[in-house]
Amino acid sequence: MSGGVGGAAALEPLVRDVLGALAEGAARRGGPVAAGAPAGIEAAVAEVFRTASGPTALGRLTELLSHGSADPADPACAAHLHCPPLAVAVAADLAVSALNPSQDSWDQAPAATALETLLLQELAALLGYDPAEAAGVLTSGGTESNLMGLMLARDRVLGAATGRQIELTGVPRTGAGGGLGAAAGARPRILASAAAHFSVQRAAALLGLGEDSVIPVAVDSQLRMKAGALAAKLEQCVERGQLPVAIVATAGTTDTGAIDPLRECAELAAEYGAWLHVDAAYGGGALLSDRLAPLLDGIELADSVSLDWHKLGWQPAAAGVFLVRRSETYASLARRAVYLNPADDEEAGYPSLLGLSLRTTRRADAFKIAVTLRTLGREGLGRLVDACHELAVAGARAVAAHPRLELHGEGEPGGSDPVLTAFLFRYVPEEGAADGARTDRLNASLRRRLLREGGAVVGRTELPGEGPGRVRLKLTLLNPHATVAEVERLLGAVVAAGVAEEGA
Ligand SMILES: *Cc1c(COP(=O)(O)O)cnc(C)c1O
Repeated sequence: MSGGVGGAAALEPLVRDVLGALAEGAARRGGPVAAGAPAGIEAAVAEVFRTASGPTALGRLTELLSHGSADPADPACAAHLHCPPLAVAVAADLAVSALNPSQDSWDQAPAATALETLLLQELAALLGYDPAEAAGVLTSGGTESNLMGLMLARDRVLGAATGRQIELTGVPRTGAGGGLGAAAGARPRILASAAAHFSVQRAAALLGLGEDSVIPVAVDSQLRMKAGALAAKLEQCVERGQLPVAIVATAGTTDTGAIDPLRECAELAAEYGAWLHVDAAYGGGALLSDRLAPLLDGIELADSVSLDWHKLGWQPAAAGVFLVRRSETYASLARRAVYLNPADDEEAGYPSLLGLSLRTTRRADAFKIAVTLRTLGREGLGRLVDACHELAVAGARAVAAHPRLELHGEGEPGGSDPVLTAFLFRYVPEEGAADGARTDRLNASLRRRLLREGGAVVGRTELPGEGPGRVRLKLTLLNPHATVAEVERLLGAVVAAGVAEEGA
């Protein structure tokens, strides 16, 4: 067992095996991802899984995992919001695994319960919330946090979960005339930009509102929600007798890092009596940087917020955070389980986090974040954010300067420098991009070629809309130790793969 006074001694030789195998696997991989097609990786995994046994199984399987990983610590692995975790955060997470605290009751996690509460107060203050008023919880990530925000929004308006209307204080009534009571029969609607994360639709479905309750709001070419379009959609809801339950503003869209106009969203939410949820799963990291934090101006007005420290925060997954501005709006999640948080325990001063989470058993994911914050400080983490931002700006400029690469939004008003740490671009064939369908096919296949050769892991997405010519490659730069020269080398590999595909 890993706990107790003897636990560390039991772990030590095993951890040494793991560390050795991690290094061996990375050396055998020799790049961002193991070369080969999926069938080759599957065969190698099946072979080791079948033959590994006994005390050497840990080392063999770890070497296999390391060899067969897409490693975000390699500068050429830059497809997704998939960060290289900080070694100190991973070491902290080892302590959590060894002790296995569970956050659903005080008697399973005395210190970890207190630490999660303190960390959330610090993060609430970082957002600009009043920590004495706010509440929150660690989550599995933006998907769960978005579900929670929309659940509380639904319950505030519909009183669904507990069967009672939740007390509304200081919240303006809807513009529909007659307020929430009169609107109880109206169809609930969620307004989110066309570039919002797909988990918003999924949450709406899970909450019984239906995917089609999410009304897409138009975005500009950088995928930023248009405030005028949001106002028009809200007005249309009211005219149709629908109830705008929530506005979801994205602070850092997954593809371009675009930040919706948060202050205007907050004003419109107040005007129409809607809940404002800000999905800052990606952009929340900007709060760590003095230079970038002003981009999130207005986030402090949100009713709830999603943050993911396993993105722009260098934590091993999962490190999601959900926060609400006013703790009383959390009411509909409250639960009493006599074996976890009996009232007499709470009265005697034993706090419980049970009623803050959708989950019961819950890892102490706050611990690694707390250790990281204390080790590097906000300033230290802010420097990492700034380094990734600068890398993205340099990378985007290198794309713009390359004759065979086209930066998305190049030459448009408002500039084409990345907002955060990601940008979209594409390879342009010899004769130009006029044949959109061929350009799409080339870009899609050059990315698979890079994966197959084990040379680079580059993102692939599509611009919103219909028809050919929308496929784009994406770099999401989350490795603060990567250099501009390494990003330029990665772009060179993209061009070489494009040329090879054209000749194929
Ligand atoms: C990543 C992301 C999510 C989903 O978060 P998970 O942690 O993967 O569950 C939601 N919204 C945005 C904007 C994201 O970038």
